[in-house]
Amino acid sequence: MDESFYRNVLDNLMDGVYFVDTDRRITYWNRGAERITGYYRQEVMGRPCHDNILNHVDTTGECLCQGKCPLAFSLEDGKTRKTDLFLQNKSGERVPVSIKIAPIWEDGRIVGAVESFSDSSAKLAALERVEKLMEENLTDPLTKVGNRRYTEMTLHNRFDEIKRYNWNFGLLFLDIDHFKRVNDNFGHAAGDIALRAVAENLSRNLRSSDFVGRWGGEEFVILLVNVNNQEELIEAADRFRRLIASSKVPYQGRQISVSVSIGATISREDDDFDSILNRADRLLYQAKHLGRNRVESVLKEAEGSAGKDR
Ligand code: GH3
Ligand code: MG
Ligand code: MG
Repeated sequence: MDESFYRNVLDNLMDGVYFVDTDRRITYWNRGAERITGYYRQEVMGRPCHDNILNHVDTTGECLCQGKCPLAFSLEDGKTRKTDLFLQNKSGERVPVSIKIAPIWEDGRIVGAVESFSDSSAKLAALERVEKLMEENLTDPLTKVGNRRYTEMTLHNRFDEIKRYNWNFGLLFLDIDHFKRVNDNFGHAAGDIALRAVAENLSRNLRSSDFVGRWGGEEFVILLVNVNNQEELIEAADRFRRLIASSKVPYQGRQISVSVSIGATISREDDDFDSILNRADRLLYQAKHLGRNRVESVLKEAEGSAGKDR
């Protein structure tokens, strides 16, 4: 592996990373370091890190650069170190960072040290909290796939994409067959496990651009991008159907098997959110009516009449 490979890897870390020689002169400075400190590589290369660049202070505010520099300690005793402190960025703001230091050895001698540091500021923590909240709000707690809200959002997005790029997408509406019997025969807890297994099977076998969400109860919606014709749609839908029908979920020494019925349809030019869901729902009803564990993609009833009593 040549040096540019490692440079590339280091540059793509979120963490700041820099190398110093034994005089604590900076010999390497990655993009993460640029991002966190505001100093560009050209500004710091060759300068000692204690030369008014990072101004490390500990959590009590004491400056560490003269006499208490953890980098200098590691250069001396060859030990690795880990601590929380503050650096000062180019605009003069104090940034809380978690740092790790390791000496660099060559032929039994210490020739420098590497420090990596990550921004532990409240801003970052807040961002993480927002991300977590978003995730919690959009994930179905039982099955860990997208929840109803997320599914609706994604479906709306697909319609936006259609308008912008003139793409079609496939929509599969799945419902587990005779799921009441699973609950009756094995208990509700077992039903939950089977439900989770179905969701797992679906999400594991999805292409990365496709989407699966739990619509409610034992119903799922799958959105497939780049489905160009009916054959591709049926092939994809039937793959999911077979996958589920052939899986067995172990439960207390017994095996639970379930199947799904699927209504499968491709978006049409005059479709909107409700019309495509309505069509998929009627196709699903048709699949149930025709015996379950099957895919239906062409409506046999007259267009416009809704499939009820499901
Ligand atoms: P079919 O769809 O083939 O017509 O029959 P079904 O038995 O699946 O019919 P229906 O859709 O009426 O019933 C769905 C059942 O799924 C009813 C409900 O008790 C069960 N169910 C819905 N959500 C959950 C869940 O989160 N956990 C468990 N264990 N059961 C659920
Ligand atoms: Mg059902
Ligand atoms: Mg149902």
